[in-house]
Amino acid sequence: MSAAGGCQCGAVRYRAEGEIGYPHVCHCRMCQKAAGNYFMPLGGVMRKDFTLTRGAPSWFQSSHLVRRGFCGQCGTPLFYDAPEAPFINITLGSLDDPAAVQPVMQSNLENRMPWSHLLPDLPVEPPPEDDSREQGIARSACQHPDHDTETWPPETSR
Ligand SMILES: [Zn+2]
Ligand SMILES: [Zn+2]
Repeated sequence: MSAAGGCQCGAVRYRAEGEIGYPHVCHCRMCQKAAGNYFMPLGGVMRKDFTLTRGAPSWFQSSHLVRRGFCGQCGTPLFYDAPEAPFINITLGSLDDPAAVQPVMQSNLENRMPWSHLLPDLPVEPPPEDDSREQGIARSACQHPDHDTETWPPETSR
């Protein structure tokens, strides 16, 4: 298996060969902050199977054992790295095909949102009657596509 991924703006891209180990979601307070989300989805890639294919992340040393990598240009959380470990954790939502890796575990339940089990039952917002705003966003999107690119941003559009 080979999987690629990267940040929203495309300045940082990576490739992972082989299995993505122990895909899980972590509910700890540090992962919530680092993701700006209710939990962080993470999976491990052996260092020998991990390559940065474009750019380099910025790092925040979140404890003396762990540093967190993110894109310094767009802020996307990308990595959870304990330098002692033989693997690096990637954020599973940053994969080009995030649906391909299904979590098998969750951790640090003491910080899990007390209403997290209710999320699937929330009412669904109806589609807008006038979708011109959505179309405008789609036409002008600066988000990197979900595949590797030769050059980015495309020279024709800037
Ligand atoms: Zn970026
Ligand atoms: Zn965590």
